[in-house]
Parts: sequence; structure tokens; C-alpha cells
Amino acid sequence: MEKTYIDALPLTMNSSEKQETVCIFGTGDFGRSLGLKMLQCGYFVVFGSRNPQMTNLLPNGAEVLSYSEAAKKSDIIIIAIHREHYDFLTELTEVLNGKILVDISNNLKINQYPESNAEYLAQLVPGAHVVKAFNTISAWALQSGALDASRQAILKKEVPFSTSTAWLYDSYVALGILGFFLFVLLGITSLPSVSNAVNWREFRFVQSKLGYLTLILCTAHTLVYGGKKFLNPSNLKWYLPAAYVLGLIIPCIVLVIKFVLIMPCVDNTLTRIRQGWERNSKH
Ligand code: NAP
Repeated sequence: MEKTYIDALPLTMNSSEKQETVCIFGTGDFGRSLGLKMLQCGYFVVFGSRNPQMTNLLPNGAEVLSYSEAAKKSDIIIIAIHREHYDFLTELTEVLNGKILVDISNNLKINQYPESNAEYLAQLVPGAHVVKAFNTISAWALQSGALDASRQAILKKEVPFSTSTAWLYDSYVALGILGFFLFVLLGITSLPSVSNAVNWREFRFVQSKLGYLTLILCTAHTLVYGGKKFLNPSNLKWYLPAAYVLGLIIPCIVLVIKFVLIMPCVDNTLTRIRQGWERNSKH
């Protein structure tokens, strides 16, 4: 029978540099999929099989030998065989002595056996170093290519707890909730059915005093959102400030003008003007 091979395209820039030889026992679904990935990563792969002449669909570039001959080629042997067929490994104890055996097997049921598969393997081959790996990756995921199972995990740095950041975050949430609540209240009191039910003073209080309070809370909410990075030049994208900074311009202008207008010297003068006061009036 003519053998069929699968081409192993390199996954990394350095994959042309030959690395260690890895031995994989078993030419089933998982063994082939893992072998392909290892070849793509630049490792030399030797498969161990019961029938080295009959194997098919193996990745191009891999060698297939009998189990004992394959084991001699590498110090790391991945056992891609179901636990039920581990028995034959006892015949290979001599050649497996001192080698690293990677147990990748899963069982069909929880607590199917009294000991774990790795413990069982260690009992069968006491002279080997047994480690567990790869059992949570499926053959399908390995075959799905570089965009799937072979993704590298990003190293997550431990961020130390910062009291000021925690305060900023809590204030941001609290101000936002309160501001939104008052904003909804303002909207409800603007409805004709509600505004007709309140007197002029109540309506003015809600629309004016509560209106400004809402504006202050919402502006503070956005200011706190910016927090420490607020005016940091590194946050300027395309030489433009962030959208939340631009959104603050009008509310801040309104609040500054309001603050000027309520200062006693300005407020008193405006009140007198409203009451008919004129600068050079003789009467
Ligand atoms: P599989 O397709 O059935 O292959 C198992 C291989 O074991 C066979 O191809 C055979 O290779 C070898 N073998 C040795 N002695 C055997 C015997 N007496 N009878 C039958 N086969 C024998 O199984 P697999 O899906 O590759 O799974 C292999 C191991 O990987 C299992 O322990 C499984 O739990 C684990 N695993 C699989 C996946 C997955 O997605 N498939 C995921 C995680 C873990 P030769 O014919 O070349 O000897």
C-alpha cells in the first residue's frame, strides 16, 4: 500500500533549526496531530508503532519505527495510546529506563480506575519519569492550525493592589449611578403629566438645582474615569485627546460660567439689574 504523508509547514521563524528528537508512541489521531505540530515547531519526530510498515497519514518528515527502536531515539516519549493498551510497555522497561514518559491519556468516566493513568504508567515503568501533559487539548484543535490550539498564552503580570486606583474606580461607578439616577428624574419631571402636577417652585428646583447637580455628577464621573491618565500625553492618539476628554469641554464651560454667575458680586449686580437698576439713574 502506498503511504500518504501530510506536509508540515513551519509555524515559527526558527523552525528550520532542528531541535531535539521527540518520540511519540502510537500513530492514532492524537499522535499524528501532535507529531505534525512538533514537526512544524522544528522538532524531529519519531513514531513508535505496532506496524511501522502499515502506518498512514503521518506528517511528512517523521520517522516510523517499532516501539522499542523508536524509544531508543529520544529521551522524551509521548504515550499517545489508550490506557487499556499500556500493558505492552512492561516489555520495554529496559529501554524506557530513565526516560521522560508523557502521559496524555484521558478516561471515559470519572473514577474509572483506582489510580490515575499517570500513576498506572509509573507503576508499569518504575524506572521512567512520568509527567502528565496535553490531555486537555483535542486532536481536532491541534489540527485546526496556527490560529487555534497553538496560540501562545500571554504572560499576565501581577498588578499590585493600589488604594488610589480602587478609590478612583469606586468613585467612578458611584458618581455614574447617582448622576444617571438624577438624569432619569429630570427626564420624568419634564413630562407634561408630571410637570403639571408640581408647583412652580418644585419644578424650578428640579430643573435648575437638580439639573446642575446632575451635570456636576456626570462631569465628575467622566473626570474620574480619566483618572491618572487624564492629561497624560501618551494617551493622545493621532494627536487628538480621547473622546471622553472632548465630551467634557461643553459641560466644563457651562459649570465655569455658572460658578462665575453665582459669585455674590456678580449675582447681586445681576439681581439688581433684573429689578430695574441703572448705573447713572437719577431717581
Ligand atoms: P487512537 O486514534 O485510537 O490511537 C491510539 C493508538 O494507540 C493506535 O493508533 C495504535 O497505534 C496505538 N496502540 C498501541 N497498542 C494498541 C492496542 N493494543 N490496540 C489499539 N491501539 C494500540 O486514539 P487517540 O485518539 O489518538 O488517543 C490516544 C491517546 O490520547 C488516548 O489515551 C486519549 O485519551 C488521549 N487523548 C486523545 C485526544 C483526542 O482528541 N483524540 C485528546 C486528548 C487526549 P499503532 O497502530 O501505531 O501502534
